[in-house]
Amino acid sequence: MTLLAIHQFPCLKDNYGVLVHDAEGGVTLSIDAPEAAAVRRALDQQGWSLTHILVTHHHADHTAGIPALKKETGCTVIGPNGETERIPGLDTGVCEPEVLTLGAIQVRVLDTPGHTMGHVSYWLPEAGVAFVGDTLFAMGCGRVLEGSAEMMWASLRKIAALPAETQIYCGHEYTVSNARFGLSVEPENARVSERLAEAEAARAAGRPTLPTRLDAELDTNVFLRADNEAIRARVGLPDAPAWKVFAHLRELKNRF
Ligand code: ZN
Ligand code: FE
Repeated sequence: MTLLAIHQFPCLKDNYGVLVHDAEGGVTLSIDAPEAAAVRRALDQQGWSLTHILVTHHHADHTAGIPALKKETGCTVIGPNGETERIPGLDTGVCEPEVLTLGAIQVRVLDTPGHTMGHVSYWLPEAGVAFVGDTLFAMGCGRVLEGSAEMMWASLRKIAALPAETQIYCGHEYTVSNARFGLSVEPENARVSERLAEAEAARAAGRPTLPTRLDAELDTNVFLRADNEAIRARVGLPDAPAWKVFAHLRELKNRF
């Protein structure tokens, strides 16, 4: 069991960058590269040398930093097989069920399409962490931009099936707005109001609300709870399949 150090830092408007460091193996991963300067600053601060970038999806706020970082460090860029053409500097395309071994870090690739068609998540089972990009957010989920709602729901179910204590790192700080939406759907869910208060306090103090733990999401993330009786009834779809309830919730959130 290797001990990994994980460093999360804010960048751009509301993105997060994350570095994962295995000192023994001499490996440092950047999960996505929203902005070269912010990633470089974080690396300098920690005294770590970048060896790999693991890209979740092709959007510019996750990839814009790749060319400069690759040029400076010679790092290897790994990303979704389905988006190789759209990710600058990509060296290796991956998809489920590939398992990468980087130093002592074991990384399982999960296909989590919906936000984009090729979107992947990276699960480190031994470390108990998952990097889910713009698929799942704290109390929310990404917009379904390229795939179908049914596809996104399947991706969310896949993440929901990871061990309950998994620490989930997400691409964006959207928790307060997500919690407000969640409360509008589940006003009687006390854990949702609690988390809204916690998130507001954290943001007021300039602290991140991420990472989040999967078990907390299962209790409070309305998008993971589209199969919940009370929620189905609340949105007037008591007998619809869960993915349709999910699709409806996602529509409501888009207009919230
Ligand atoms: Zn995105
Ligand atoms: Fe994003």
